[in-house]
Amino acid sequence: MDDERSPLEMEIRRLIGIAGPMPVAEYMRLCLTHPQYGYYVTRDPFGARGDFTTAPEISQMFGELVGLWLASVWQLLRAPENMRVIELGPGRGTMLADALRAVRTVPGFQAAIVLHLVEISPALKKEQERRLEPLGVPMLWHSSIEDVPAGPCLIVGNEFIDTLPVHQAVKQDDGWHERVVDVAADGNLAIVAARDPLPHFEATLPSGLRLSPAGSIYEWRADGVALEIGRRVREGGAALLIDYGHAWYGLGETLQAVSGHAYADPLRSPGQVDLTAHVDFAGLAQAAESMGSRVHGPVAQRDWLRRLGIDQRAAALKAHTPYGKTIDIDQALSRLTASGAKGMGDLFKAMAIADPKLKSLPGFEPS
Ligand code: SAH
Repeated sequence: MDDERSPLEMEIRRLIGIAGPMPVAEYMRLCLTHPQYGYYVTRDPFGARGDFTTAPEISQMFGELVGLWLASVWQLLRAPENMRVIELGPGRGTMLADALRAVRTVPGFQAAIVLHLVEISPALKKEQERRLEPLGVPMLWHSSIEDVPAGPCLIVGNEFIDTLPVHQAVKQDDGWHERVVDVAADGNLAIVAARDPLPHFEATLPSGLRLSPAGSIYEWRADGVALEIGRRVREGGAALLIDYGHAWYGLGETLQAVSGHAYADPLRSPGQVDLTAHVDFAGLAQAAESMGSRVHGPVAQRDWLRRLGIDQRAAALKAHTPYGKTIDIDQALSRLTASGAKGMGDLFKAMAIADPKLKSLPGFEPS
């Protein structure tokens, strides 16, 4: 039996044996970022043979429009020098490579920026260096956004927040209990309710959720990253976060595992499958605003891409693509913008957090 268990599962069982059941958030954190066995630490999860794909990997158009956004906001900020362009979780570096290539000709932009890449995966750092080196822009890596030097900044993150650990609580007759991972009677890992209720938890919930029926599940993330982004951008900065999630708070569990482009059981093979959970954009906005920044959106990814001109960009690319290959561009466009389960247009959302002096930002103008 032990042979089938991943090394991280053995470690998690050991930790539960010593310290007792662990919150779902701690389990998720270990699965993704354990320094030896964490999912992101040990592999490059992208591409057709990997576990999942992301918008910048689907089409260069995505990164190009992010580049346009960055250069436009830099100009709105009156084109400061030594602009820190910070990417949270850059994956293979594809988005920034496409972004900076697309805005090479914006006078002064490339010369004004230093890239700060926040990444924990050694394998992905190498890949980022390989893709971004040819651009000739200075680059530095950090393992946390807190380590990036203070000053004017443009922050971007695509599918980063969804990887940050989520806590879960379940409502019972005597109050809300944190959901924890334990070893069940059958010997397998299972999610159960912690024995004691969370003190005063109900009062911290959005008011519409306070009288939820027994059995309801509520998910939340620690505010640290949102607060840090809000603090950094409030004077002379802006952040663009694109992710999948809900624009308004709600109940329900969204933790999911993906392996080989299919859903998997989050408790099986810890460290070997990707774990993510929906982003609560309302919660993110509230934390960022509490630091004195202004939030724009969220808007559906489809609307954001259209307002930045994805249809025109697709048409321009097609004009330079041999007949017979243009279908790839149409398919990518559809995947990025379509509604429903097949497309990313509605489920994915873009939100900006910025210096309150910036009244309006590209892609977030009221329609
Ligand atoms: N933005 C990329 C990759 C998204 S996957 C894209 O859209 O393709 C999530 C990325 O965040 C990966 O690069 C992963 O290694 C990184 N990551 C996950 N958790 C992290 C953490 N706690 N700190 C820093 N980077 C993290």
